Amino acid sequence: MRIVVCLRQGSDGEINPFDASAYETALRIQGAEVTLLSMGPASVRELLLRLTRLGAKRAILLSDRAFAGADTLATAYALSKAVERLSPELVICGRQTLIGDTAQTGPMLAELSGRSLMTGVMDVAVADGALRCMTREEGEQTVEYPALITVEKKNVLRLPSLRSKVGEVEIWSAADIGADASRCGLAGSPTRVLKTFENESGRRRCKFISADMLSGAIEEGLRKNRERTAPSERRGENLGKVFIVTQAPRAFAETVSDDITVIPLTDAEDISRKIKESDPSAVLWGSDVKSKRVAAEVAARLGLGLCADCTSLECDGGELIMYRPALSGSIIAKIKSLTRPAMATVRTETEGAEDIIVGVGYGVRDKIDGARALAERLGAGFAVTRKLVDNGYAPYELQVGLTGKTVSPPVYIAIGISGAVHHIVGMQRAGTVIAINPDKSAPIFDYADFGIVADNIL
Ligand SMILES: Cc1cc2nc3c(=O)[nH]c(=O)nc-3n(C[C@H](O)[C@H](O)[C@H](O)COP(=O)(O)OP(=O)(O)OC[C@H]3O[C@@H](n4cnc5c(N)ncnc54)[C@H](O)[C@@H]3O)c2cc1C
Repeated sequence: MRIVVCLRQGSDGEINPFDASAYETALRIQGAEVTLLSMGPASVRELLLRLTRLGAKRAILLSDRAFAGADTLATAYALSKAVERLSPELVICGRQTLIGDTAQTGPMLAELSGRSLMTGVMDVAVADGALRCMTREEGEQTVEYPALITVEKKNVLRLPSLRSKVGEVEIWSAADIGADASRCGLAGSPTRVLKTFENESGRRRCKFISADMLSGAIEEGLRKNRERTAPSERRGENLGKVFIVTQAPRAFAETVSDDITVIPLTDAEDISRKIKESDPSAVLWGSDVKSKRVAAEVAARLGLGLCADCTSLECDGGELIMYRPALSGSIIAKIKSLTRPAMATVRTETEGAEDIIVGVGYGVRDKIDGARALAERLGAGFAVTRKLVDNGYAPYELQVGLTGKTVSPPVYIAIGISGAVHHIVGMQRAGTVIAINPDKSAPIFDYADFGIVADNIL
């Protein structure tokens, strides 16, 4: 089977971790003939050369000035032209890049290249002319070829064998793939970053308490949650007609408009038709897996800008201004769309999620059973840091953070977690954070409402 793996170089010069998992997923498929495809500056060639040692038959770098400054849609367009030329049965992308962090390029590429799509894939099996996918949140799904899947950071990329040979990298320009220059790079990008500023949102003022006050702090967190009101007050101007896909983004929509229409989350074709018929000013989506996938497909189908994971919205001069965390959550970007309707996925709560999550880190690696027992006693969910997953103490499904999942429970109890920014971005939207750590200088306390300095809580 011909497989194209799309990959991007990270800011550390290495392959983006989700794309490493995509490459490994491809290499494990029996009889796979793997082609690596990346878009970037000429310097990415070095990375691709190294990666050919692992088994890819070909490596292609889309490199041309015309591609510079591309947002997700312009990136997906250029990749789609290359994919068209390669015409593989299967394309595998990582769920998201750490730099862009939108999870949009894969679904947009699927739409532009007319492929069936599945996101959040953990494992695959080739069966009877189709691909069986075990997904993170949607159970087992089958996709027909030609297909595109986006994978979680589940598989660890193999190391090259000593005798492996370095292959070649082909450099393709915009002209080589017959790309329309007006749809590439900055010119073809419907979203614009207006400004960025430091993100202070996860920081909290920590009140240190003694261990016997833990249950009181949990109670207080749950009570605060009941009293908390959604961000439903409208500030500034009225944006006019806004579509919300399901009720999930309603509180966000109410901050910019009082003319809100709810549409069901069906498929890209149906929703695109409704948008064309009614011409709303904006379309807002939730942040569950399916909403994010269909939003990206609709954006690609209609050539619209899509801003991912917005944490707040405002209306300025009749335009929707969208704010979202970027660069692992360390900054906030202010973004607008050059196309109408403006489209955004907004960070919404997961339905049916637990009120309390006990998150545990490497500091209590020997007491994981105790932590699980505590979670059970509290009727709480259970989550872990990447360090526990990487060292084999817990499965990836439980990992919270940049390369895991995002949670926003009313109460998050962090035990034995140092507070690396990569973990914080996955839990900073929790209502109340209670951190337990013997090291009073651990960064986690900067992101906690209550702190307990102790090493024997479990
Ligand atoms: C590209 C990239 C992506 C990443 N993605 C993620 C991600 O998605 N999620 C994630 O979590 N990390 C992620 N990381 C890793 C992250 O940077 C940290 O290394 C990781 O979060 C640290 O895990 P930890 O807090 O469990 O361990 P450590 O940093 O080792 O901290 C352990 C803590 O436990 C405390 N401790 C020790 N003994 C006790 C005790 N008896 N009781 C209580 N506390 C105790 C220590 O004081 C320490 O603060 C990523 C890193 C990179 C480079």
